[in-house]
Amino acid sequence: MNDHRQTGIGMTSQRTRDRLIRRLAQNGIHNEQVLAAMASVPRHLFVDEAFAHRAYEDTALPIGSGQTISQPYVVALMTQTLLNEKRQRILELGTGSGYQAAVLSRIVTKVFSVERYRSLHQRADELLRSLKYRNVRCLHADGFGGWPEQGPFDGIIVTAAPPSLPETLFDQLEVGGRLVAPVGGDESQELWAIDRTRTGYVEQVIEKVRFVPLLGGIVRG
Ligand code: SAH
Repeated sequence: MNDHRQTGIGMTSQRTRDRLIRRLAQNGIHNEQVLAAMASVPRHLFVDEAFAHRAYEDTALPIGSGQTISQPYVVALMTQTLLNEKRQRILELGTGSGYQAAVLSRIVTKVFSVERYRSLHQRADELLRSLKYRNVRCLHADGFGGWPEQGPFDGIIVTAAPPSLPETLFDQLEVGGRLVAPVGGDESQELWAIDRTRTGYVEQVIEKVRFVPLLGGIVRG
């Protein structure tokens, strides 16, 4: 990471970042840990350099390979929904830029994040290491299988939309754990929160959202 890029954008980015955090709070993000984490993670380093000046607008932005970094409000909402109770070991499907993983890493003990594009996986892994987010582990794999060697998890967050939720994920969710995922096709998706209880599952729909699709298989480029 070159210093000029970090310091050059420094003051402006802190001000615009603070403005974004105030806006998230106004829009119903009440979890202080989530707001503090989002105030501390430099989102401008997770987007393509050409879009760095727009990093603190509340909008999704391209990150290459036809994928996007989610809108900050959606990152905040999903993180707040996932962490309605204390949860420490989190699985994320869809590393993308690594931004959501970085935000989670400020709050929980350990984040395990899976990405199907090798190029996105490598870039996010390097960036997270260079920014010293040491409690994040990244894996290049098909998220439909979860990350069985590291499970079970007490939270699972899916940041791409499957048409329906893969069964395998529930095997990797602890009793007392929560899975947060957008579910649906291209046109209409809902954000779901599903709690695993001792006797079964309790589901709730949070709100309508729009994500890129969760696709099977890995991409070697
Ligand atoms: N959480 C990301 C946003 C990711 S966009 C961030 O903070 O930037 C969704 C990501 O999910 C894309 O990078 C896409 O390649 C990835 N994805 C889609 N299907 C997947 C699968 N089956 N396994 C792992 N990653 C997948």
